[in-house]
This record gives sequence, C-alpha cells and structure tokens, in this order.
Amino acid sequence: PSLYRGQQVVVLGLAKSGVSAAKVFHTLGAEVVVNDKKTREQSPEAGELEALGITVICGSHPDHLITEHTALVVKNPGIPYQAPPVQQALQFGIEIVTEVEVAYALSPAPMIGITGSNGKTTTTTWIGELLQTAGLSPIVAGNIGTPLCEAATRAEASQWIVAELSSFQLKGTSSFRPRVGVLLNLAETHLDYHGSMEDYVASKARLFANMTPEDTAVLSWDDPICRELATTVQAKLLPFSLTQRLEQGVYMEPPYPTAPEESEAVDRQIVYRDSKGSLQEIVAVSELGIPGRHNAANALAAVAASLAAGAPAEKLALPLREFRGVEHRLELVSIKNGITYYNDSKATNPTATTMSVRSLKGGIILIAGGLDRGSDYMELLPLFQERVKGLVVIGQTREKLARVAELAGLASVIIVEPEEVADDTLRAAVRHAALIAEPGDTILLSPACASWDMFASYEQRGRIFKDSAHTL
Ligand code: ADP
Repeated sequence: PSLYRGQQVVVLGLAKSGVSAAKVFHTLGAEVVVNDKKTREQSPEAGELEALGITVICGSHPDHLITEHTALVVKNPGIPYQAPPVQQALQFGIEIVTEVEVAYALSPAPMIGITGSNGKTTTTTWIGELLQTAGLSPIVAGNIGTPLCEAATRAEASQWIVAELSSFQLKGTSSFRPRVGVLLNLAETHLDYHGSMEDYVASKARLFANMTPEDTAVLSWDDPICRELATTVQAKLLPFSLTQRLEQGVYMEPPYPTAPEESEAVDRQIVYRDSKGSLQEIVAVSELGIPGRHNAANALAAVAASLAAGAPAEKLALPLREFRGVEHRLELVSIKNGITYYNDSKATNPTATTMSVRSLKGGIILIAGGLDRGSDYMELLPLFQERVKGLVVIGQTREKLARVAELAGLASVIIVEPEEVADDTLRAAVRHAALIAEPGDTILLSPACASWDMFASYEQRGRIFKDSAHTL
C-alpha cells in the first residue's frame, strides 16, 4: 500500500471497512477520495474522514470520479461490478480490490481466512476462542467485529488475524494469501450477485489461490464441490468430515450416517489423525457448547484450523465445551408455558434453515419468509414434510413458501399479510405461532430469506422476534 503515496486511491462505499481502508491510505500519504451513493445524512462517518483531510463525495457516483489518474479502487464488497464507477475502473484497467487485499498487504500477523456459504461467523468466533485459550492472542476481524484494515494496523507478528471472509470480499483479492484457509461448505446462495454458481465457486476458490505447501487448506470432505476444489489447491490439505474416517484430518469417531437425520444416541468423539497416522481424541460431541449436526461440522473445521495455526490439541477441549454460540444463530430465547423460542434470524437461505430445524427436537412451528431472490424454495419440501409441524410465513416470499408447505401437506400454514409497520407483521407472526404451538413444541424464527424486504438487517429482525417472544 505504501506504493500509493501521492497517488489517487478511490474508496467506494462508506461502511466500516471503507472508513478503515480510507484511513490507512490517508496515513500512507495517498490522495484519498471516498464515494458513496448514500446521502450525507445517511453517512455519519463522512465528517470524521473529512476532518482528516479526506475528500468525501456522497449522494451519487459522479461521472468523472474515476479517471486515468486513479491508481487504485478499493470497493466495498456489497457494490456490484455493474455499478458505473466499477465499470469505469475496469475500462481504464485500474486495479479493483476489497479491504481484504489491503489488510493482507499491511498485516505483520499471519491470517486465518474462513469462508463458506454457511457457518462462517460461528466458526470464525469459535476459532478465536480456541486460539485465545491456546495463548495465541488472535484478533477476530472481517464481517464480525473489527474491520480487517484496523486489525492489520494494530496486529503484531506473533498474533493471528482470524478473518471471516465472504465470497464478495474474496472476489476482490489478487495477492491475498492466508496461512490457513478454511472452506466450510458451498451451497447455491448469492447467485443474484455472482450471476452463476461457477463465478461463486471461483470467488471462494480465491481463498486458496496464492497459498503454498507451507500453508494449510482446511476443507469439508463431505461437500463434493469442496473436495473437487481440493485437487487444485497447492497448500497442504487438512480435511474434516462428519461422515468419513480420514487418512489424515479431523473427523467423527464413529462417523455420522450420511443421511441428515441424527436421532440415534451414539456417543461420538472428535478425533484428529495426523500425517503419521496417530490418532488423538479432542472432545466428545455431546459436550460441544452448541447443538446440531451443522455446529458439529463447524467444530471440526475450528479444530482443524486451530491445529494448523499451532494450537496444541490438549488445549482445545475446554473452549469447545464452553462456547455458547453467536447471537441470532440458533439462539435460545426463552421457554414459556412449555414452549421454547429460538432466534435463528441469521438463517437467510434454505440450507441454513434446514440445518437449524434438524438440530432441534420435538414439534417445530417455523416462522419464515423475507426478501425474494428468485428461488422457488422447493428444496424445503422434505423438511416441511418430515420436521415442521406448523408454518407461519411473512415477507415477500410468503406465498411461495406457503405453496411449498401446501405441497408438503402441512396442516397448519398461516400467511401473515404485511402490516403498515414491518415490526408489527413479525409480532403478529409470533402471536400466530404461539396460538398453534403446544407444550413441548419449539417456535423457531429461521426465515430462509434475507431480511431487507422488511428490516434494515437480520439483527433487527432477530431483536424484534426476541422482544415479541419476551412480551407475549
Ligand atoms: P455465516 O456467517 O456463514 O452466515 P453463521 O455462523 O452466522 O454463518 O450461521 C448462520 C446460520 O447458518 C446458522 O444460524 C445456521 O442455521 C446455519 N449454519 C451454521 N453453520 C452451518 C454449517 N456448517 N452448515 C450449514 N448451515 C450452517
């Protein structure tokens, strides 16, 4: 980044990551211009940057923003490649990167990069706890907590930056090389942004692109696309699997059955087989701090990543037991009149919802629905048939979801029509769910959709749900 002294760097997008990147380049002596389509009123960060002498342009993307004199564009991962300034930069052949690339170039500390369709935040947070207990002083950064550039600026060489990375962020990297790269799984999400599954997989594969045999790639051996990707990776492989005994890697002993049902009461261990073939027991699955087969998979990945970063195997059991999960991810809200409430607002695609529903026991009244991204939700059909007792739907996808439930032969399906205020729609959904729930049942908010048709964020949606569960 110091190469950019005296040169123009355009930062597109004034989110936390944009602010952090702008400050970095300003400190390095670049001429920084920050641009966001949002108005000045919607951009409280603008004043702080201007006080430093950084140019901030709000309200639109001006035509002449990018010129042949622009040396670099730092793009917020949420801004599509079709946006006019990005297209301009492409025409001029100007390098376009995300904050990840900048942070990588700056950081004296090695990085663990975690990506996948589902489980990133949980696994990233968990790895942070595992490394902390092992005394490796991690800095957890990326989409959660500290922006990456900020982490990179304050990290010391002896630390680890544990970074949650989205495919959007990875798409904008060129030389980024984590020392440990974790690919959890790959489901068909975010196709509207990427255009195709190929582009999505290719973006995720950027994680491994610059890794060498000194680095470690942690990949799911249960996911066919991950396994195929493994054949193209230069790094050492440390696979993990729920369902197979591996020659080397982290897996379950005995393995889980391949079918997603897991009701049988078998006492399993997470084990690690090293390159010499010796086997080490890490912890019993029944002792893991958070429930569900998907979280068991996240635990395997977290163990593998921590071992790759040099954490001793004996130090891992305690933080695996004590972890309580992350807010809005299968979060236990309350138990009232024998009915349990779970907030899983973060489940923004059908795969996540499926995993969560299958993690819980007893009758489930599911509250789902949200932003329509064009899917038909037919993949939820078997779940509705096998595990869902009642469905309450809200948001743009309510009719689609109700149709799938009808095909599944679900007796209780309630479509909640939008109220004037979105919060009231969700509150009404909770009341409807409570009316059909019986003691022993669980009311689960796990929408299978993003929240933006009704709410500013999934966090807001989850908080309203928790509040309505508490105030019923
Ligand atoms: P991400 O950061 O990738 O969005 P989170 O850790 O925030 O993932 O979890 C979001 C939701 O995804 C969880 O509530 C859960 O329902 C589901 N989930 C978590 N881990 C997995 C996994 N390994 N496989 C499938 N679904 C998962």
